[in-house]
Amino acid sequence: MRQKAVVGNWKLNGSLGTNEALLKALLREVPRNPPAACAVCVPSPYLAQARQLLEGSGIGWGSQDVSRYDKGAYTGDVSGAMVADLGARYAIVGHSERRTIFGETDAVVAEKYAAARRAKLTPVFCVGETLAERERGETEAVLARQVDALLAKCGAAELAGGIVAYEPVWAIGTGKTATSAQAQEAHAFIRSRVGSVGAELPILYGGSVKAGNAGELFAMPDVDGGLVGGASLVAEEFVAIWRAAVAVAQKGK
Ligand code: PEP
Repeated sequence: MRQKAVVGNWKLNGSLGTNEALLKALLREVPRNPPAACAVCVPSPYLAQARQLLEGSGIGWGSQDVSRYDKGAYTGDVSGAMVADLGARYAIVGHSERRTIFGETDAVVAEKYAAARRAKLTPVFCVGETLAERERGETEAVLARQVDALLAKCGAAELAGGIVAYEPVWAIGTGKTATSAQAQEAHAFIRSRVGSVGAELPILYGGSVKAGNAGELFAMPDVDGGLVGGASLVAEEFVAIWRAAVAVAQKGK
């Protein structure tokens, strides 16, 4: 059975005080050995705080990006080794906000994925089409291009060491969620595209996941949980989403 997981993406939000309140609220609900993985990807300056509060708990933590470089004259970058040094397990790579706002290409994303793996992190590799691409009927072509670029650089064995997140760009932070059928179709396509490693590869759905829609989405056969933005900043919402993943894990889907 594939690992079920719910990963929060705090984006550019938080402060020492609000983070502590949020993490302590999560700690009250998530047991040490959770039936579905639970993790938060925090702004890098707060990785040390995440470690301090979460070490030894059932909640993992990670960064929202890593440098494609390991060290050197790359002002402002944060390496995978630095993230791992702070006890993190995860690193999001290729989030659509990095691709669109910061101009990260498929090739750069693949380099970042490789850098995260060199640091023994579990990359959460994001793919997804824009609304215009979906309306032009290009969803599968876009997903294929994004996945193939990673496979070409890193190979299937490395992909198997990560998690994929299907995040249709039109659903991120917009309140518009893909229907469970749309999510299933895209997830099944990604799974078939990656070949033999697909059977065991966790593929999360991201895009306006909330407590109210998580159960239906996660019940789909190829949806293994969620990458959650806005709702991960609200403890009760995030816990309820994680509980939806626990419910499918316990059904043995
Ligand atoms: C995300 O940031 O990855 C995301 C899916 O955001 P939201 O849940 O707010 O749509």
